[in-house]
Amino acid sequence: MSVTAKTAIVTGAASRRGIGRATAHTLAGAGWNVAVLDLDEVGAKSAAEEIAADHGVHALGLGCDVTDDTSVAAALDTITANAHPIGALVNNAGITSPTPFLEVDGAEWDRIFAVNVRGAYNITHAVAPGMAERGFGRIVFLSSVSAERGGGVFGGVAYSAAKAAQLGFARALARELGPHGVTVNSVAPGLIDTDITGGLLEGERKAALLAGIPVGRNGRTADVADLITYLCREESSYITGATYDVNGGSHIH
Ligand code: NAD
Repeated sequence: MSVTAKTAIVTGAASRRGIGRATAHTLAGAGWNVAVLDLDEVGAKSAAEEIAADHGVHALGLGCDVTDDTSVAAALDTITANAHPIGALVNNAGITSPTPFLEVDGAEWDRIFAVNVRGAYNITHAVAPGMAERGFGRIVFLSSVSAERGGGVFGGVAYSAAKAAQLGFARALARELGPHGVTVNSVAPGLIDTDITGGLLEGERKAALLAGIPVGRNGRTADVADLITYLCREESSYITGATYDVNGGSHIH
């Protein structure tokens, strides 16, 4: 069964200038049918319409809060009833915050973990059994260079900790699901031009970060989307438990 008979779920793919939306487009360009899940239901539906029109694939846009397992279950029921079997899951929905550790409170800490970690758990836990049963699956986590180098880009300690949790999650899951034909990998982007920072990363701070990027520019969403789509190929079956940097050389290790 080729990717044209499968569905790739991309969470957090409504954001117009976001990595998720670009990834949903690139996957569709490679033949995948896609399901766009996002808190922003209107945005998810319009992304799906745009993707179906541009690439001639089946695309579904659904409102879904990944932190809420009931909302995730409802979205997956709709996908199961209306779309091709789920072949790939891109855990892209995420939030960040620059709050310093000395100022962060428990509520904010929990919110960062709720979306980035518990959200990824909710949906991965729900789709993994079907992937294992069908003997095929591709799961990709959107971690961050912040997890590897300990912040220093935009996100604070809570964000770095949550993104590092995703790396451990993906690695251990790769070990468990490998025998079932399911690969699990992470991508760790550096600074990518999207709206996640809410306009709070500008001016001198942005220029200073740029100066530390050997290729001399911020990342584009397409840079990340291409890598994810590569990892989701059927031919990428021997790549699992890996973390791929896509950071213009800003962190070389
Ligand atoms: P973005 O803010 O443009 O998009 C994030 C999307 O997630 C939004 O559409 C938002 O509505 C959705 N979302 C938020 N909470 C949700 C929830 N509870 N349920 C469902 N959807 C939810 O962000 P982006 O910059 O495209 O980032 C995408 C991912 O890549 C995130 O996980 C982020 O941490 C990671 N990342 C981004 C960068 C960067 O520089 N932009 C760098 C490294 C990692």
